[in-house]
Amino acid sequence: MKQTLARLMETGDQEEQQSFFRDVRFVSLFTQWVGVTTFIGACLLLPPGSHINDTQGWLVALGMALTLALSLRCRTLITLNLSSVLFVVCAATGFRVLENGLGNPGFWVLPIAIIITLTLAPLFNSTWMYLGLICSVWIILGYGYFPFNPGLPDEQWPKLIIGSSLLVGLVLNVCFRLLRRKNFKAQKELERMAFQDGLTGINNRRSFIEGARKLQAGTENPTLYFLMIDIDDFKKINDTLGHDAGDQILKKTADIIAQQSGQHLCGRLGGEEFGVVFSGDQAAVCGFAAMLVAAVHAAFHPPHAVSISVGIAGLIKDRDLSESYRSADEALYRAKHAGKNCYVLA
Ligand code: GH3
Ligand code: MG
Ligand code: MG
Repeated sequence: MKQTLARLMETGDQEEQQSFFRDVRFVSLFTQWVGVTTFIGACLLLPPGSHINDTQGWLVALGMALTLALSLRCRTLITLNLSSVLFVVCAATGFRVLENGLGNPGFWVLPIAIIITLTLAPLFNSTWMYLGLICSVWIILGYGYFPFNPGLPDEQWPKLIIGSSLLVGLVLNVCFRLLRRKNFKAQKELERMAFQDGLTGINNRRSFIEGARKLQAGTENPTLYFLMIDIDDFKKINDTLGHDAGDQILKKTADIIAQQSGQHLCGRLGGEEFGVVFSGDQAAVCGFAAMLVAAVHAAFHPPHAVSISVGIAGLIKDRDLSESYRSADEALYRAKHAGKNCYVLA
């Protein structure tokens, strides 16, 4: 049911829907509020001698108030769209009730329906839903009054105006939808660029450190360890195999680290250095580091032989991350001095 609704609304994935919901919520509520106040104003300004059906008038006014209240409580795009549809149907019915009580009802169909058609264009992400809704609005407001001005010399004008407003509304709706999607994609791309390492595709330093701080601050974390990983003799690799081959080795090493880390947070700290935040006890983190060293060593063969060294330090809650960083760096230094291709626990 939810899927069918989402498809009908062409609203993109969950994240895109929420982004659109945030963009459109205020405009949608404001438009509904304008609809209510215009309706009240129209009631107050009814010309003398109008014959309004009071029961119908109160019923649609109640419908508008309820759907506006419902819209205020909506927290997802689908519910906001549905309550907006209900509101628009109530509002169009309300104006139809007022029209019916006037001496020249046909005169008001065009301006009211055109205003609604154009106002709704940016508010719906689904063109089908928008088209369905504005067709209903035209029918509600104009049923029984079409065609306008029959037999008069300007009889073709209303048709032209209806056609143009529907066309402009449709184009506006499609343009707004495409613009929003473009904006959403650009935003996602910027986020990706800000948090992902361009070469290896794993977390960059910023997002890794941010994630590590969050994990450190988390309440339910058991023991956490910070692993600093450095490729051995990488300068020599670059010098003998070239910078491009060096890049490929960096990528492959990052893939192995990411794959072995599984649920644990990992990222590239810069250059040929990587970090992992491991959650588990001392035996588990030592086992993990040993497996990581062995996995990298086994993945490369001469002339591309590659190894890593790992420094491990505890990541203690309420202590500055830089303290663990420094301890892990010292442990890494000791691993290098111990002959590389190994790990050291601080
Ligand atoms: P050690 O075993 O002590 O870690 O020695 P090392 O050669 O790995 O360390 P060093 O710090 O001397 O050299 C790191 C090299 O990594 C130098 C730098 O040119 C290279 N490097 C840093 N970032 C990149 C990169 O993105 N691509 C490539 N190809 N090389 C990089
Ligand atoms: Mg280094
Ligand atoms: Mg190195």
